[in-house]
Amino acid sequence: MTLRSAQSLDHDAVIVGARCAGAATAMLLARQGLRVLIVDRDHYGTDTLSTHALMRAGVVQLYRWGLLDKIRAAGTPTIRTTSFHYGDEVVDVPIKPQNGVDGLYAPRRTVIDSLLVDAAREAGAEIAFETRLVDLVRAGDERVRGVRLRSVDGRELQVSAELVIGADGARSTVARLVGAQCYRTGRHATGVIFSYWSETGFDGYHWYFRPGVGAGVIPTNGGLACVFVSVPQSRFHEELREGPAAGHRRLLRECGPDVAAIVERSARVERYRGFSGEMGFFRRSFGPGWALVGDAGYFKDPLTAHGITDALIDAELLARAALSGSERALADYQRARDERAMGLFEITDLVASFDWDLPKVQQLHRALSDAMKKEALDVSLLES
Ligand SMILES: Cc1cc2nc3c(=O)[nH]c(=O)nc-3n(C[C@H](O)[C@H](O)[C@H](O)COP(=O)(O)OP(=O)(O)OC[C@H]3O[C@@H](n4cnc5c(N)ncnc54)[C@H](O)[C@@H]3O)c2cc1C
Repeated sequence: MTLRSAQSLDHDAVIVGARCAGAATAMLLARQGLRVLIVDRDHYGTDTLSTHALMRAGVVQLYRWGLLDKIRAAGTPTIRTTSFHYGDEVVDVPIKPQNGVDGLYAPRRTVIDSLLVDAAREAGAEIAFETRLVDLVRAGDERVRGVRLRSVDGRELQVSAELVIGADGARSTVARLVGAQCYRTGRHATGVIFSYWSETGFDGYHWYFRPGVGAGVIPTNGGLACVFVSVPQSRFHEELREGPAAGHRRLLRECGPDVAAIVERSARVERYRGFSGEMGFFRRSFGPGWALVGDAGYFKDPLTAHGITDALIDAELLARAALSGSERALADYQRARDERAMGLFEITDLVASFDWDLPKVQQLHRALSDAMKKEALDVSLLES
């Protein structure tokens, strides 16, 4: 669907960005009867530069929204154990059925983002892909009143809205146009190289840690396993000198010789993708006529694999605030997000520093696990 299909020019909310944060917010607002337009410069159903392990609270959200069966029906395997490999020591953690969910899931972004877009459309949201935000429209009092959009064929359209939501990722155009300031930044960033292998035999999450290097295995759709390696940002370009395949192989051998041997016997079915790292931040996420959700408002290093889960939680916090319609509710949204997320952000930053020995990183993981248990419980207690 492109911009041409937009039925009306006036909306309660226009959402820029149709992935996990934007599509979930659109779905929730449309389910409450709001007139929602969601736009994305990309195509429907595309992949993006991200691995995709969900944590329990993210799975709980999909369950509460009636989407978990569709995730399963798309062939996403149920994850029933998480194994932490600290050097040669292995700690297996069973994923207990709890908070309404039977395990964890790691749907490809082509699966989860599309399902959320479909759910938003079914709820009545209008959706325009291949459509880019080019500017915001403001009233005399500087309140944001709408957006100027350009479709792939060069057509421009102005759409007015009570609320413009930037769900347009860490380099958010909405954030830039409203001048949203960062009030907290991380100190560490990691680089990641990943790809997909078939028939590895892994059926749980596996996270590997040795000083200076991390790795992970994420079973996903199509019987594939996403295998990533992670290093401090300062080391990333050096490791890529002989190309991503050599860098990935060397780092995987260094971090987990056992998993490296399995991966070397398996067939790689996709190209390597690399992420050179980006410092985490919290940005002011509301103002007159605008709000930010997902990575646009709050980004943290991917090493703790929590950004999609964050997006699914914060979409609901923002949708509730938007429904109440006051700027005060939007301020409360930012406060609630920060209260929930700040601890996870701090721990992630420490893990991403790679300034730890194995006992210390285990301690950080225990703190992370406690924070995530609380988060999952809180989410499961939200009224539907
Ligand atoms: C290497 C890597 C690995 C990761 N691994 C995990 C993981 O295992 N688990 C996890 O939970 N998280 C992971 N994350 C984090 C996760 O990818 C993000 O938190 C998540 O994508 C945030 O979703 P979002 O909807 O906020 O933004 P995005 O997914 O960035 O989507 C933003 C959308 O906005 C659109 N857009 C941008 N600008 C415009 C514009 N001007 N006009 C129209 N559209 C626009 C883009 O096309 C895009 O579709 C990882 C991230 C990286 C980089």
